[in-house]
Amino acid sequence: MASQTLHHCLNCERPETMIPLLALRYDGKDAWICSQCIPILIHQPIQLAGKLRGAATIPPAPEDHA
Ligand SMILES: [Zn+2]
Repeated sequence: MASQTLHHCLNCERPETMIPLLALRYDGKDAWICSQCIPILIHQPIQLAGKLRGAATIPPAPEDHA
């Protein structure tokens, strides 16, 4: 039997066996990010530069609380 691929969070690299991962699609590629790293993708995508290709160009969500 073929072994199933274990996915890891693109940011913290925790596996899907430890934390829920959400699939995302960016720049023609599939990637996975965990529930705890989603806020980074939303508010500080620049921090994912080097981990998610092209992340440096993702605009952060506007801050609606000052
Ligand atoms: Zn993560």
